[in-house]
Amino acid sequence: MFRCSSCGKTEDERSLLWRCPCGGYFNLEPGERTPLTRRAILPGEPGMWRYAPSLPPVPSGKRVTLGEGWTPLSAEPGSFPELYFKVDYAMPTGSYKDRGMACLVSRLLSLGVKEVIEDSSGNAGASMAAYCARAGIRCRVFVPDYTSEGKCLQILASGAVLERISGTREDTARAAEAAGEGGFYASHNWSPWFAHGVKTFAFEIWEQLGFRAPGAVLLPAGQGSLVLGCALAFDELLASGEISSLPRIYALQPERCDPLARAFRQGVPLPVPVEKGETAAEGISAADPVRGKAVLAAVRKSGGEILSFSEAEIWKGFLSLARRGYYVEPTSAIVAAGMERLCARGVFSSGEAVVGLLSGSGLKAGDKILSHFSGGSFTPEEELSPCMGEPGSPPWEG
Ligand SMILES: [Zn+2]
Repeated sequence: MFRCSSCGKTEDERSLLWRCPCGGYFNLEPGERTPLTRRAILPGEPGMWRYAPSLPPVPSGKRVTLGEGWTPLSAEPGSFPELYFKVDYAMPTGSYKDRGMACLVSRLLSLGVKEVIEDSSGNAGASMAAYCARAGIRCRVFVPDYTSEGKCLQILASGAVLERISGTREDTARAAEAAGEGGFYASHNWSPWFAHGVKTFAFEIWEQLGFRAPGAVLLPAGQGSLVLGCALAFDELLASGEISSLPRIYALQPERCDPLARAFRQGVPLPVPVEKGETAAEGISAADPVRGKAVLAAVRKSGGEILSFSEAEIWKGFLSLARRGYYVEPTSAIVAAGMERLCARGVFSSGEAVVGLLSGSGLKAGDKILSHFSGGSFTPEEELSPCMGEPGSPPWEG
């Protein structure tokens, strides 16, 4: 059962409405699932499906999966505090979106949907195209024309129809909504099923840390689906008594598009409208996040913050990660920028685990990376993120 976030009206999931007639977005009715406990985990199931008891139910034979989930939680030796990266770009299509998409497309297949329309800054579109190819669902993806070539190729190769829309990310969303008559508008940002798939990254962090909540989690945030997934998961674990406190969520945005960070600084409940500038962090360039109010509330409840970063900080973060072996797209590099600033401010305490989520592969964004580093000169201009420890001096060298 869906419940509208604005008017409170309930709606049968089979109605296939993508939003409430009042304009509000739907959430899944809480109380229809039992909060996850470690005893409920199904270790024999592949990837994120080990947490199937906590996911929206999928009838037998309708699960659409490429083995997504159970990505590495990689420790950074010599770091302060106890620092980890959740390597979520190690996914079938190269981004964390596969978690949400496996859940969303499985539900669509269960409900008999034959044709979908999606809009995306790239990664979600590539993921939707792949899972629809797997499910035999026709797929049409709308992307802004600034989307990295690698992501567009992925969408086309999967057999989906690609529509490049000039203008902003918001213009792309409007074009997709308007096209919705030709198929179900399956927007991942509006779908309540998507967020439940995404939450599995946080269950994995908890399990991989030995059934322990981290002290803090750093997440790139555009629409804020990682923030919402993180909050859903740790709220469940708190409710089931598996953890005793919530991790602080640090949501990270580019300065050139930071409606959530501005609202956080101003202490207001809704995203602050921004004039969006061009940013390397294309995956988190959302001027008007659909669930912005919920994202702000989740971060505040956790005791975390929403911060924004310059393009220079993002590119420095990119090199900091690459020099440690993590080849991420610039969007994910904002996590290294966040680590550095928060470490310098001393917000982490010793003995607490801090986890940064690396959301998308650098292999998708070769064109942007090459053009920024003007033909392949990767010499850093300044010292790279000292909080992560010295690159190239692992602890086994003493
Ligand atoms: Zn409503």
